[in-house]
Amino acid sequence: METKDKIEFEISGNDFKNLKKFRKQHEDCLYGFTDGKFEYSFTPTGLGMIVSVKCTCGQTLSLGDYMDYESGEYNEKKNRVLTPEDKENEKFEAAAIIIISLKIPEYID
Ligand SMILES: [Zn+2]
Repeated sequence: METKDKIEFEISGNDFKNLKKFRKQHEDCLYGFTDGKFEYSFTPTGLGMIVSVKCTCGQTLSLGDYMDYESGEYNEKKNRVLTPEDKENEKFEAAAIIIISLKIPEYID
C-alpha cells in the first residue's frame, strides 16, 4: 500500500500460510553469503500484485493476486527443495528454449 510518505508490501491470509509452509520446507537449504535465505519480490502491475519468494536453493514460491491467480493449497511437490541437478536441468531447459526460439522465430513459450 502506498501513502504520501511510505510504501508497504504485505503477505497475508492464505499467501502467508503458504509462505510459512515454504519456509519450513526449505529450512535446511544452504544459506547464501548473507543471512537472508529468502528473496522477496513485489511487482505492482495494473492487473494486481505479483509476489515471489525465492530460496537460496533456487526454488520460487509464487504468491499475490495477479489476474485470477489463486495461491490455493500449498503444493509441497511443486515447491520442493531444488538440488544442484535440478539447477543444471533448468539451465539446460532455458538453453534449449533459446535454441528453439532462434530456429523457429514464431515459437513462444
Ligand atoms: Zn530451498
